[in-house]
Amino acid sequence: MSITIKSPSGREIKFSTGLFINNEFRPSKSNNVLTTPNPATGEDLATVSAATAEDVDDAVQAARRAFVTTWGKKSTPSQRSAALHKWADLIQENIDTLAELESLDNGKPVWMARDIDIVDSIDCLRYYAGLADKIEGRTIEQEEGRKIAFTRPEPIGVCGQIIPWNYPIQMFAWKVGAALAAGNTIIMKPAEQTPLSALVLAELSIKAGFPPGVINIVNGLGSVAGRAISSHMDIDKIAFTGSTITGRSIMESAAKSNLKKVTLELGGKSPVVVFENADIDQAVNWVSQGILFNHGQDCCAGSRLFLQESIKEEFLSKLKKNFESHVIGDPFDIKTYQGPQVSKQQQEKILSYIKSGIEQGATLLTGGEARIAHLSSKFKNGFYTPPTIFTDCKPGMKIVDEEIFGPVLTVQTFETEEEAIEKANNTPYGLGAGVFSQNASQCMRMVHALCAGTVWCNQYVALSNAVPFGGMKQSGFGRELGIEGLKEYTQTKSVHWNYGEKADWPVDGTSN
Ligand code: NAP
Ligand code: MG
Repeated sequence: MSITIKSPSGREIKFSTGLFINNEFRPSKSNNVLTTPNPATGEDLATVSAATAEDVDDAVQAARRAFVTTWGKKSTPSQRSAALHKWADLIQENIDTLAELESLDNGKPVWMARDIDIVDSIDCLRYYAGLADKIEGRTIEQEEGRKIAFTRPEPIGVCGQIIPWNYPIQMFAWKVGAALAAGNTIIMKPAEQTPLSALVLAELSIKAGFPPGVINIVNGLGSVAGRAISSHMDIDKIAFTGSTITGRSIMESAAKSNLKKVTLELGGKSPVVVFENADIDQAVNWVSQGILFNHGQDCCAGSRLFLQESIKEEFLSKLKKNFESHVIGDPFDIKTYQGPQVSKQQQEKILSYIKSGIEQGATLLTGGEARIAHLSSKFKNGFYTPPTIFTDCKPGMKIVDEEIFGPVLTVQTFETEEEAIEKANNTPYGLGAGVFSQNASQCMRMVHALCAGTVWCNQYVALSNAVPFGGMKQSGFGRELGIEGLKEYTQTKSVHWNYGEKADWPVDGTSN
């Protein structure tokens, strides 16, 4: 039930490949498996157990037992905090192993996995470890000397958590941190493309002291294990990050089963507006990072750029240079900024969007096959795509209207602030938005006008574990991170307490 992968740096990475239920690794009862490739080479990397509905059911039973007997009803906030802190310590101790495994499975550069994803994930677990003993209710005065009322934020119960492949460890940490701090138990399903790092996190969770059944990890297909979670009658809440289409079907399953609570963090087509008074060099760097970071596989990627007409030429010439300066290639090379996309399917999808951009009349400023022609034979079958800029874009083009989830930027221009607002908000999504202007009043007007869960001013995609994150419109609902993220994992119980009032109305029907 365990395998050893030898990484390109020579590191031997050993981990269990089973389903993680009740603190034990075991195969699927139907012996189902799935194989994940290394996106840099296209070769098979590892085969892991894949859950069926029956396996999910076992995980739910374990989680329910743990909720009732240990974690949810019997643990103290400080015990939950200590386990989360210990887990964070263990992840820190294993950070190099985890970063290499994440890179092999997902394709992102090792440095990015280590210094951004995992460092942030450790901070996230610590943030929620710190909040575990700060969950407080309110007392609400009723009648002095006779009655009082108070509220108790209680854990919701057994929570299903379904995460995508773009930030496997980070999405894991965002979801489990808040849920566990509040006293819930969890069934986590990682994406089929990136099942590996969660298995190492599972092993470390035993060492961190989480009782059996608190954390259950069921790798498997969305159509099987994912569906089993969203339609399960004994799961109290489901938290999902991924595509809008899958989010819709999860909500439908929740509605058709036991009306479990739902929070959804879905896709985006986020606008970035650059005014002529912006610091152009700074804006170029942020805009580039906003779309190219993590290979464009980012729900809040700034994929629609709006430039004030007067700065178009200068901005685009600098942006083109910036795009062409990034090293694309070996994820194990410290100089690499862009590795392969996560899967062949994603690569093909992005390339087909690039083709459609050309067919629908946009102008290809940079990108195309030549940009990845230098790749050595070792990476020829890797799932690489070219960082691409399209100008002369307009609504109605697929590259403008649809989430590409790759390193493809579309550029439009505007003359006035009103026009910028109208164009930026012209999307069914509302996850993120960026504004570049050195006029603070203008920034603030844009903050008011842009319809997005997060607005960045003079920067892009800054995230903090203390600041809530989530969508407006079809980018979902509910918030992750921050105190708001914790609240999504509690439910309010109201208590009315009588400590002095006598019931003085007729109770036996004999008097009036
Ligand atoms: P997806 O279908 O939304 O997958 C996300 C997660 O949901 C995965 O764990 C997936 O399992 C699971 N899932 C799939 N179908 C399910 C179902 N019917 N019930 C319950 N769970 C289900 O995303 P994808 O297919 O990997 O990617 C497609 C597109 O989604 C991307 O091109 C991108 O546009 C968008 N996306 C957005 C985000 C984001 O952060 N907002 C992240 C990833 C992808 P499997 O892995 O087995 O499918
Ligand atoms: Mg993989």
